[in-house]
Order: sequence, then C-alpha cells, then structure tokens
Amino acid sequence: MNVTELFGSNVFNDEVMKNSLPKEVYKSLRKTVDEGVPLDTSIASAVAAAMKDWAVSKGATHYTHWFQPLTNLTAEKHDSFIEPDGDKVIMQLTGKSLIVGEPDASSFPSGGTRATYSARGYTAWDPTSPAFVKEGTLYIPTVFLSYTGETLDKKSPLLKSMTALDTQAKRLLKLFGIECKKVTTTVGPEQEYFLIDEEVYFKRKDLVLTGRTLFGAPPSRGQEMEDHYFGTLKTRVSEFMRDLDETLWTYGILAKTRHNEVAPAQHELAPIFTTANVSVDNNQLTMELMKKVAQKHGLVCLLHEKPFEGVNGSGKHNNWSLSTDTGLNLLEPSESPEKNPLFMLVLACVIAGVDKYQGVLRASVATAGNDHRLGADEAPPAIISVYLGDQLGALVDAIVLGGKYVPKKAVPGSIGVPESPIFPMDTTDRNRTSPFAFTGNKFEFRMLGSLASVADPNIVLNTVAAEMFSQAADALEGAKDFDKACAEYTKKLLTEHYKVVFNYDGYGPEWEPEAERRGLLNNKTTADAIPECFKNENVALFVRQGVYTEKEAIARANIQLENYNKTINIEALTMIEMAKREIYPAVNGYATELCDAICAKRAVSEKMIVSADVALAEKLSLLIDGLSASVEKLEKDLLEMPEELLPASKKMAHVIVPDMDAVRTIVDELERICSSEYWPYPTYYDIMYSVK
Ligand code: ADP
Ligand code: MG
Repeated sequence: MNVTELFGSNVFNDEVMKNSLPKEVYKSLRKTVDEGVPLDTSIASAVAAAMKDWAVSKGATHYTHWFQPLTNLTAEKHDSFIEPDGDKVIMQLTGKSLIVGEPDASSFPSGGTRATYSARGYTAWDPTSPAFVKEGTLYIPTVFLSYTGETLDKKSPLLKSMTALDTQAKRLLKLFGIECKKVTTTVGPEQEYFLIDEEVYFKRKDLVLTGRTLFGAPPSRGQEMEDHYFGTLKTRVSEFMRDLDETLWTYGILAKTRHNEVAPAQHELAPIFTTANVSVDNNQLTMELMKKVAQKHGLVCLLHEKPFEGVNGSGKHNNWSLSTDTGLNLLEPSESPEKNPLFMLVLACVIAGVDKYQGVLRASVATAGNDHRLGADEAPPAIISVYLGDQLGALVDAIVLGGKYVPKKAVPGSIGVPESPIFPMDTTDRNRTSPFAFTGNKFEFRMLGSLASVADPNIVLNTVAAEMFSQAADALEGAKDFDKACAEYTKKLLTEHYKVVFNYDGYGPEWEPEAERRGLLNNKTTADAIPECFKNENVALFVRQGVYTEKEAIARANIQLENYNKTINIEALTMIEMAKREIYPAVNGYATELCDAICAKRAVSEKMIVSADVALAEKLSLLIDGLSASVEKLEKDLLEMPEELLPASKKMAHVIVPDMDAVRTIVDELERICSSEYWPYPTYYDIMYSVK
C-alpha cells in the first residue's frame, strides 16, 4: 500500500480540480475557498462537468447533496447522472444541480420554524468542503434551509460563525498593523469509541435501541488496573484500526493517532486539525465509517457517550484555534507572551467570552447521553472554567492581582544517561480535568460528547470570539495611545472575568463549592442547561453576529429539548420492556427452581439444611417485588408527562431519570445473585471482553 497515493484518492481535491478545471474557473473557485470571495455562479457548469467526469471515472453513477440536518446525523438522497438522449442516455451534472437541490424538508426537525403545509427545503453547495465519491455516489457537501429561508442544519450556522469571526478578527489584526485575507478557525476533534463483538451486541436490546446499556453490574475487573490506556492492541482491534485508517485516508481525512483508551474495549482516533467546516464534515464521515468498517470485522462501534456504567464514557476533545491565511496562529503565545500584546488581547477576549457566555457553551454540548458523562469521573464537571497552565496562569495572575511575573524558561529534559537523547520539555503540564484548557497554541474544549456533531460547540466558540473581538475593536479603534489602551483593555477583561480561570484539579471535591462561590453556572442536566439558550442576551449574541435569527435560535433550543425528551422516553420504554418481559420471568424461573430444590431436599429428609437456599429464594422474591414496584412507578410517571417541552424535560431529568436509576439498582443487584444460566443477557464481562 502506498499511503501517499491512497490519500485523498476518493476526493475531488485541489490537485484534481487544478488538472480538470479551466484555469480561470479554478482560480475563481480557489478565491472563494481561500479568501471567502462570493462564489461566481457562472463557473458552476464547468465545475459540475469536471466533477461528474471525475466521479464517473471513479465508478460513480449517482450524485447526492450531502447535508447535516438537526439530528446529529447526515442526510443524503441519491440521483443518477442519467439524462435521456434519443434512445440512449448520457451522464450529466448541470451547474444548477450542483448548486441547488430541493429535498422535501417536512421529515426533518425544524423546531417549529416550518409550517406543516410548507414542505419545501433547499440544499445549496458548500464549495469550501471538498466533494468525494463513496460507494458509487458523488457526495456534494451542502447547507440545508427551509422555503422561508431559516437554516435547518448545522453547517450553515457554522459557516456563518466562521464568517463573523473572520470579519471581527481582521478588524483586531488591523489595529496591530497586520493585514491578511482570511482568518479561519481550525479544529482537531479527538474521537473516543468502544468496540464490541457483534454477537453480544445483538443480544442486548438496550444497546441496539438506545446505544447504551440500561442495566449491568460492573465486572470484577474494570479500569482500576490502569493497564488498558495505551496498551498493546489486540489483533482484531489493530486490524480494524488499520482498515479504518486506510479507508479514512482515501477520503482525505488526516487520521493520525490511534490508541487504546482508559476503559476496557475503549479506543481513540485523533486526526490532524483542519478548517472547522472541513473538520466537522470529516468527523461525520469518520463516525459513519467507523461503524461500517467495524461491521466488516464482525464488530460494533459504540459512539454513545456512556455505554457502560462504572467505567469511563467517551468524549470528543475539540481542539480549537484561529489562524490567518498567512500562517499566523492567533493563539500562539510565542517565547515571551508578556511581550506579545496581540496574543494577550486575543487570550483575554476568549477568556472573557467563555465566561460571559458559559451558559450557551455548556448548553451546546447538552444531550441525554452526555449528561451521564459530565460530572462523572472521566469528564470535566458541568461547570465551565478555563485552565491556562503554569506560565500563562502566572502571567494572568500578575496582570490581575499585580505583582511580578517571572518568566519560566523551558529546561531541556534528559534522564541522565549519556546514550539517551536530550529533549525539549514544555513549560506547562497537561491538565486533564479542565473543560477548556489552553494546550500550547490552541484551546481544548473537553465537554463535547462522542456522539455529537463537532459543529455545535464551534458555532458557539466562533460566535463568542467574534463578539468579544468586535467589542475590543470598537473600544480600541481610534485610541490615541494604542499600546496603552490595549494593555488597559486586556487587563480590564482579565480582571472582570478572572473568576472563570481555574488552574487546579477540576475533578476534586473542593471545586464545586468553590465554583458556586465564584458564581459560575453548574447546569448538570440538559433540562437545566438549555433554558440558557432562551435568555434574551444569549439570543441577541447570535443575532448580532449574524449566526442565527431569533426564530432559529429558539427553534434550535427547542429541538435539543425535544431530542432529550424523546431519548429518555425511548430509554424508559426499553427498560420497562426488558424488565417486564425478560428480567422478571428469568429471575422468577430461577427462584422457582430454588424453591423446587428446597422442597425436593425437604422430601428426602426433614433434617437437610436448606437455610442458604431459603435465604436466597427470599432475597430474590423481595427484589422481584421491588422491581415490580419500581417499574410500575416509572410507567405511571411516564404517563403523566406535561405537554410543553420545557416542563417535560424537567420531569425527565428530575423524575424519570431517578426512576430509571431505581429500576437499574434492583436489576443490577439481581444480576449479581441470579444464576448465569437464567440471566437473559450478556453481562458487562461478556461485552467488554468480547473482542479477543
Ligand atoms: P495534545 O496531545 O496536547 O492534546 P496534540 O498536538 O497531540 O496535542 O493535538 C491534539 C489534537 O489537537 C490533534 O487533533 C491536533 O491536530 C489538534 N491541534 C493541534 N494544533 C491545532 C490547532 N492549531 N488548531 C486546532 N487543532 C489543533
Ligand atoms: Mg488532547
């Protein structure tokens, strides 16, 4: 295999475009992609023809407008290239078909923006993300909107937020005498996932229907030995990873790092970062291909945020930064950040924005699945805070509190053995417990769940940064003594938002009360987090930056609540069915067998000791009774759901979820004492150690 030849072989990439498009057309398209110059639609026919020829040479017979509705998944509807030509057909893709499509929008979530009688929707080509051929179809990345112009997808607001950021960042740069054509957000999402054997998967209705286990006692060996992280890969896993990497490379996805994660059966894949929009598309494709490649290997890839209780769940660390087309990373502190006013101002703006809009940032990653992870052991708590590390932390402390900043010099590392190399060491340690950590020349937002779209938090981060940059530019444009004004403004922002900076252990018990004292939000459930999105000042932020209209902002929050309510409802119904139809009869069968054995033993001799049998049978009966009662309560509460989304979500979070926990506690207790011959499901041991 020749990786350099394989890479991007399914992508209509720059090289293919350069070779297949007329020179002027190529130049014009590049200007749109690189500099954000509006697309010249007169070039569409030429691009479409070249795209079609290339796709057909790759075996494609169809094309599709590929989009990202508000479901977290991607959507596609395939049309063939054929057009009648006498009694034959020709293969054709017109400029119009490349630029616009008209799928029926009525079956996609719209959060009430679309009246039921108006079903029409539009997809429009996004030339900034490359088209590709997959399984005989040409995929054209597109945005998706309603007949009345409301955006109905994740890509449109992401692109709008990138434009807002570009505009405002350029204003800021100009103040420092830096001219550039475009500032882009770069994103590198690290994707965590579980791999289990297909056979056990299909024996668990909960995994199939909800993506996670609703029951299951922890195995005797979980992650406490700390031996899975970075451990040697099992042959089947490494074959899967190899196959996956090769597949991803053909789609031009920069799959770079792969390793075992902390929990048994958990793994991670990290790509090299790229433009936010392309990164989002790539991650959607990565998740889809992970599932497909796993299937080829008789495996199932679980992307749920918390498939198993008691071991780590999966996240998607969102590495985020900003750079100019000239190669300047705005979050690069350089050797001496204290002498880098541009970096310090950008840093202060980001810190201030994250503090000011912490509620919407938290809400951007709120889902039923992620609620199980935030605040559990492995993930940061539901409180937003910023980690700066030793060096920047000390610098910010000095600015805010006064006092002297002593720059820390990087010391070369060595183990003191002459044969071993001397290596550069960092000035800052890693912090794994912060939700928003500065890591060298980027921020790593760690609250995102493994299943979610990467678009969600980046829409917020970009919008918030754009807002703070625009305020900074407003304040500093026309300043008489710019250097002085800039330093003062930076100090003001850092001082006002110092409360969000936390450089210590975010998992420690002291943090929650401390965060409360500081007045930071701690919205533990989706039902508590989403109301932030309805607040006037937060809606106004998106409207001001041109990312959402008021209607769109509200609709999206409603869709999130709706998803949350539906997810928990499905989980609860699945739980009830499993408990009533499978667990109850199984355990009853075992209890009956025990009682029969007691009778048989007694029949042989009155003196036969049966106390252990009796005790176990009694315990089983007691738990079965408890199970019945707890399931009944869950059923009853589900029947009494408020109609309105918000009250319903509160009830889901604060009544239904605790009800489900109560059912689960009893079932897990039953699993521990029920004979394995009777237990109806593969256990955690069977699942987590299913891949040999
Ligand atoms: P760490 O090990 O500290 O998390 P890495 O260099 O391994 O850092 O990067 C982790 C992820 O961050 C990778 O996906 C990488 O591509 C991404 N990344 C690195 N630099 C940037 C950047 N400037 N913008 C966005 N993502 C980045
Ligand atoms: Mg990382």
